[in-house]
Amino acid sequence: MCRKGESLVQEGKEGLSVEKFQQFIDILTPSMDDYLYFYDMPGDCYCISSNALERFPLKQNCFHNVVQELEKLVYSADFSALNAEIAQIRRKEKHFHNMQYRWVDQEGKAIWINCRGSVLKDEDGEPKFLVGCINEIGTSQKADNITGLLGETSMRAEIAEHLEEPVCGFFLRVGIDNFKEINENRGMEYGNMILRKTAECIEHVLRPGQKLYRVVADEFAVLDFTPCDRQNAVVLYNDIRGEIQRFIEGSCYDSFFTISAGTLDFKDLEKPSYSNIMKLSEFALNEAKNGEKNKIYLFEPEDYERFQRKRALLKRLRKAVNEDCRGFTANFQPIVHIDQQSVFSAETLLRFDTEETGPVPPTEFIPLLEESGLIIPVGRFVMHKAMEACSRIQKFIPDFRVSVNVSYVQVLKSDVLKELVEGERRYGLRPGSVIVELTESGFLESDEKFIGFCDGLQQHGIPLALDDFGTGYSNFHYLYNVKPSTIKIDRSFTMKALQNAYEYNLLRHMVDMTHSIALKLCIEGIETQEELNRIREMNPDYIQGYFFGKPCDFDAFWREYVTQNEGIIDES
Ligand code: C2E
Ligand code: MG
Ligand code: MG
Repeated sequence: MCRKGESLVQEGKEGLSVEKFQQFIDILTPSMDDYLYFYDMPGDCYCISSNALERFPLKQNCFHNVVQELEKLVYSADFSALNAEIAQIRRKEKHFHNMQYRWVDQEGKAIWINCRGSVLKDEDGEPKFLVGCINEIGTSQKADNITGLLGETSMRAEIAEHLEEPVCGFFLRVGIDNFKEINENRGMEYGNMILRKTAECIEHVLRPGQKLYRVVADEFAVLDFTPCDRQNAVVLYNDIRGEIQRFIEGSCYDSFFTISAGTLDFKDLEKPSYSNIMKLSEFALNEAKNGEKNKIYLFEPEDYERFQRKRALLKRLRKAVNEDCRGFTANFQPIVHIDQQSVFSAETLLRFDTEETGPVPPTEFIPLLEESGLIIPVGRFVMHKAMEACSRIQKFIPDFRVSVNVSYVQVLKSDVLKELVEGERRYGLRPGSVIVELTESGFLESDEKFIGFCDGLQQHGIPLALDDFGTGYSNFHYLYNVKPSTIKIDRSFTMKALQNAYEYNLLRHMVDMTHSIALKLCIEGIETQEELNRIREMNPDYIQGYFFGKPCDFDAFWREYVTQNEGIIDES
């Protein structure tokens, strides 16, 4: 840091010194949103208003090694232009600096700034000081003319003022549900009217001490620094809903929309900073908007931790996919033919295990792969592993089959049928060697792409197994459309059947019904001999469960089931 009055020629020809500049900046900072700065060029020292410390990752507001330090702060793509400009000033080719470029903020976001400054020279005409002001271009709009509310910049200032002392109260972030569709369906003018009405409805029910701001497009925030908590936020949210309902009824339902909200108690915040409030309230509002919307979510730190873990895992999964699926492996679990008492096939089950994460359960990482679309490359990887394993095993057990789980994202967003057909050809597998397992949930039987996929499987002789049957909402008509060759009964259903006579009878009738329409049935999740004995009475076709074998890697499967493929069902 430059100590005040240190180094350089202290008094330039204008009688200005580092110390004086610093004093000026300190005096003016509280009355400005912008950042004042000066750059002592011969002394290589830069000072900026202290409010820049809250916004940008600066350790101190005065520093040496200016170009190197700025390089850390400036958005990398913009740095060379800035460096060239500084060099021009040094060479006396420029006497006024005026540049729009980006700095990176505390959260790593690129922030557009306009940086202007005058070059002050010493007695010899050499550039001595660059003095000026930086404004953030994106936040210069302080009020919103559609709703007549103050905007984010004003809210930031209000929050900054309160955060200096221990704070109480709450932050309520309100969002209009499906605002994009409202705009698309009824036009911008109508959308603006809804924004205005929402602002009016909120303002109408505010209590003394509460302030309303428009945060971004379809979001509003209420700040309350009085000693109340989030239960008061819930009351406020319900009042706002009541007010909106009155407006909707007044329009004879010509206008109809709902709002969601997320709320934080200031006292729950570990780090009460503006960026933290915005980050956590965004999370809270997203939680409220997830699913049905039209509700309020009260911030819970544990939920946020879970969300962060999920985000970190997603990042890790993405990295693994970019490294040729390093960390992903395929496991194989035997599926046993109940009559021939031999391994009929294996289900391929994906695993994810890295040094960083340890083994992660599929129930945790598969939904993330699906949400992010990463299931498409990873599904391709696991399919190839399955086919490779099948072609090796068929040399010993010619009828051996392998099943792969295919998720709806792969069906709807990639050409998984083509990959299956090409893969079978590439690995020299007979049609029918690869069984596709689809879970009933997630698929709409009316979806053309899905029905097209099912028809395509039939045309290419690829058998389909309907997985997790009994856990979703399938009706028997679904079976007609999807035309599976096998139905797999999920372990949760199997367990209920073993504990409850009604469920047992239901399962028994399902087996009969399945056989009556010429489908095969596989019961999953058999763990003990006793469970096997009771399930066997139902006469299913195939059985899968820890009793016969847990999922294992290819080498273990090979040793256990391929080279010693004798009868493995205990007759006791
Ligand atoms: P699923 O397809 O129904 O797979 C059967 C699950 O039941 C597997 O869990 C298996 O390990 C477990 N299981 C089998 N026998 C027993 C038993 O006797 N007792 C108990 N407690 N569990 C048993 P896993 O491997 O954890 O996989 C969970 C789910 O993740 C799978 O359910 C499937 O829906 C999904 N999944 C796994 N691999 C893939 C994949 O490659 N692609 C896709 N899209 N989904 C996959
Ligand atoms: Mg399965
Ligand atoms: Mg299953």
